[in-house]
Amino acid sequence: MLAEKLLLNMLITISPVLIYSVLADNKRKLDSPVVCGLLQSMAALTCMIFSYANYGFSWDLRYVSLILAFLYAGPVAGGMVFTTIFTTRIIMGGETVLFGLVNTVLIAVVPFLILNRFWRFTPNKRVILTAIIGAWSLLVCFLSLTAFHSVKGQSLTINTNIPDLLIVGLIDTIAIAIAAKLNEGLVEKSRMKEKIQRAEKLNTLGELAASIAHEVRNPLTVVKGFLQLMQQDEKGKNYDYLSLVLSELGRAEAIINDYLNFAKPQFEKLEEFPLVHVLSEVKMLLEPFAVKQGVQLESSLDTSNFQLLTDRNQLKQALVNLIKNAIEATPEGGKVTLTYKLKDNHAYIYITDTGKGMDHDQLARLGTLFYTTKDKGTGLGTSVSLRIIETMKGKVSYESKLGIGTEVTMILPEGKKEIVNF
Ligand code: ADP
Ligand code: MG
Repeated sequence: MLAEKLLLNMLITISPVLIYSVLADNKRKLDSPVVCGLLQSMAALTCMIFSYANYGFSWDLRYVSLILAFLYAGPVAGGMVFTTIFTTRIIMGGETVLFGLVNTVLIAVVPFLILNRFWRFTPNKRVILTAIIGAWSLLVCFLSLTAFHSVKGQSLTINTNIPDLLIVGLIDTIAIAIAAKLNEGLVEKSRMKEKIQRAEKLNTLGELAASIAHEVRNPLTVVKGFLQLMQQDEKGKNYDYLSLVLSELGRAEAIINDYLNFAKPQFEKLEEFPLVHVLSEVKMLLEPFAVKQGVQLESSLDTSNFQLLTDRNQLKQALVNLIKNAIEATPEGGKVTLTYKLKDNHAYIYITDTGKGMDHDQLARLGTLFYTTKDKGTGLGTSVSLRIIETMKGKVSYESKLGIGTEVTMILPEGKKEIVNF
């Protein structure tokens, strides 16, 4: 009888979560402590109706609803369940009424006190914590049972009643753990929903920004063309001004191009080529820049015939951005090394510099759009490179020590027609 009643109670304590999840599914957003409080109050009340009377007490799982309401839905919902249990208990009366009321207060105090700290724990720890508070409620009930019997001058025959107490303890713990786990599922679901909505918004914003950038680029090209024509006829001050205007326009154009490239890398012309050729070309391209910065640019390239099938110019762009960053980070007299090795059918490209390096925070921010530490930087180079390599199904990782230097590792898979489909 006891087990049956308690199993029915278990079903009742789980039902608010299930009802809530159905309600939340129907509405876009349902985050109301009052609804939670109402559902849990109804569950607690139903538990009290279907309780098992023994040893002068009613045995049921009303406190499971009380604890869950406090922990998962906040003080308002907890307060509602507390009031429901408290008033119902007064109405029910009986000689144990005082014990019942003291129990309710003692049990409600613990979840109420840890309410603010509860959400700092991980989901699994939250479930364990809820089960521990469930155990606390059992202890309180057991102590008040003993107190009641000693007041009445009877001794509680624990030995003969141990199976009953074990059943209560077991079902109570299982019920609260299951209900907490279901609550966690609900929490996770609503977090995922929020994340998806935010990602959708960002995606739309990104598309909008890309289309605006695209529209701005065309008039910019026209303005630049005419300014170049005007500059040919100008002399003196105006010529210098126009040079400045043109260089700034060039910068704006570069930013827009980089941004568009980031939004959607365009692989226009797919071709098969040996990687080592592109690496030598990039090195040659950047040599004058390195000389200007007073940095030594060295390379050690594997000459085996490793073929890639991709857009050559995009790969060049990605490499140029990363090597340029390495050169810019390196002080005069420093060294940047470009190494290429072939391992397990994958190309390993290392860009090592003896520059200023980055600390943990800087490394974490690297690759975020518009993150730059340079006066004239755009904060787009690394993001664009990472995006290009990612589209090529390659990987890029960074290792850096502040004041010592940085090593970028790029791993590229061999180009096969079936792998590369942009
Ligand atoms: P930008 O070069 O326009 O600043 P990037 O996206 O290329 O934008 O780089 C972002 C930032 O990352 C740089 O401003 C720099 O602080 C840091 N960074 C990138 N590569 C290196 C490197 N090899 N060594 C030190 N810092 C680097
Ligand atoms: Mg850069």
